[in-house]
Amino acid sequence: MGTRIAGTPGAAGVAVGPVWRYVPGGVGESRMPDVAEHPGAVVRAAGEEAAGQLNALATRVRKLGREDEAGIFEAQAMMATDPELLDAAVARAEAGEEPVSAVRVAAEAAAATLAALPDELLAARAADVRDVGARIARILLGEDVALPDVPSIAIADDLPPSVAAEMPPGMLLGIALESGSVTAHAVILARGFGIPAVVAAKGLVGAARTAMSVAIDGATGEVVLDPDPGEVAQFRIRAATLAESRRAAVALRGGPCATADGERVALLANIGSPADTTRALEAGAEGVGLFRTEFLFMRRRTAPTEDEQVAAYRAALEAFGPDRPVVVRLADIGGEKALPYLNLPAEANPFLGVRAIRLAGAGSRELLLTQLRAVWRAAGLAGVTPHVMAPMVATLADVQLLLDLRDEARAGAAVTAAATGDPLPATMVTGVMVEVPSAAILAPELARMVDFFSIGTNDLTQYAMAADRGNPALAHLQDALHPAVLRLIGMVVAGAESAGITVAVCGELAGDPAGALVLVGLGVDELSADAGSLDGVRTALGAFTRAELADLAGRALAASDAESVRAMAGELLARQGSAASR
Ligand code: PEP
Ligand code: MG
Repeated sequence: MGTRIAGTPGAAGVAVGPVWRYVPGGVGESRMPDVAEHPGAVVRAAGEEAAGQLNALATRVRKLGREDEAGIFEAQAMMATDPELLDAAVARAEAGEEPVSAVRVAAEAAAATLAALPDELLAARAADVRDVGARIARILLGEDVALPDVPSIAIADDLPPSVAAEMPPGMLLGIALESGSVTAHAVILARGFGIPAVVAAKGLVGAARTAMSVAIDGATGEVVLDPDPGEVAQFRIRAATLAESRRAAVALRGGPCATADGERVALLANIGSPADTTRALEAGAEGVGLFRTEFLFMRRRTAPTEDEQVAAYRAALEAFGPDRPVVVRLADIGGEKALPYLNLPAEANPFLGVRAIRLAGAGSRELLLTQLRAVWRAAGLAGVTPHVMAPMVATLADVQLLLDLRDEARAGAAVTAAATGDPLPATMVTGVMVEVPSAAILAPELARMVDFFSIGTNDLTQYAMAADRGNPALAHLQDALHPAVLRLIGMVVAGAESAGITVAVCGELAGDPAGALVLVGLGVDELSADAGSLDGVRTALGAFTRAELADLAGRALAASDAESVRAMAGELLARQGSAASR
């Protein structure tokens, strides 16, 4: 029997193959010429070269149709010449520090700043900065990463995404990481390429030191080092079964998402930039239920201009056209996502602080107005009806503020449209995210003011359970299938029904087959999730009738904890033969 190590599911799929160990390059002496005379210039040149390599990688993955991964490398190319990193490294080198060390220290400092942020997504970007630093260091050392020459499974503490993307096509069968997280870029990349990945496999690197082969299951998080022939056969059977169910799921993409008795459930995608629209459309999304717009506001020194925003929103709206709505979420910033140009004071509890719609009352009203004007104008140019929603709504006054901002922004956009002759829509479909428990409790009143609700189960769970969503020590309180959260969702559905508006869910729970069954059973009309989750949700919903799902939801509401609810949903999914987890 092989050595078994339990990890966390990163990207679904099964792989068996030779081990390829990735070890980040060690610190050495710079071998570039002229270092002694012009150390700063040499560091700068290496930064420029790294940027060139990363841009070339971006072009390569873009040609494969992987827009969002291309975005990752473009962002890294920008980091490679970012003054914060490069100026710091150049200054150290010019002060006499060995250039490779200067780059590593500067990259580590930039990474540490990011890693200290409480936002899990931003903290994961620390790995990108380190990767950029390692690339510049490799250029200075004249080293290349030794890539595998036979199809292999990468084993590493953490794998830089650029190394994963540099692998010749077909050479990377899977990824197993000791410390990578589900949101690490290499794992996001793996998901995009359909490569299985396991993360957080404690003890993996040490145990794999002498291993020749490995089997991984990205849906269960299992890793088996040097599997015996029986174990290999078992993993191969799993791989064949999975390939068959994937083929069946892909075949369903063209058709509508519905329960077994034909009740329609709208299935939309979450996107984080216009580049994500390609994957979403490929996955058969009926629209975008959550367009996270923070990408426009982060990692810069000044706020994005109205025209810049118009271009970004227009690109996404045009990709989906007039029949598939794209819901633009107003910037969910402030709090822990502090932006230098907002001049917000530091807060003791940023998750409970001046965040999102609350910015309007804290001196940043113009920021939200500009964004809304941009959405009005983008929709006019794209010839579609605009859809907007506000995050972090807690009170009736918040909703009124949203409606006022919307109307004021239209008046502003009308002035521009009159000057340019561009079209402007007459109305905007306006909704609120329900992610603060008070909004769920006030659902009947809020529902009379807006056109739709979209439940953000990530934050709703965090606030209902008083458990920081990024704190790994609180995993037992972070499952949105907890009956307490489900009862809040039930209240939102009832509130929406009383006013005749639709209710969507756009938190992670919507992309989890078990969650999707319970949510539709509770009466949710629409689900919006990462494009990679849509096949699994569509397949799972198609296997059960509305009555079966309502029965599941009823039992879930009465359950004592999230584990019991998962067991109930898991039982249904196992009966139907669908994967019980992502
Ligand atoms: C949520 O809170 O569920 C949500 C969708 O928003 P975000 O994850 O961006 O906070
Ligand atoms: Mg949220």
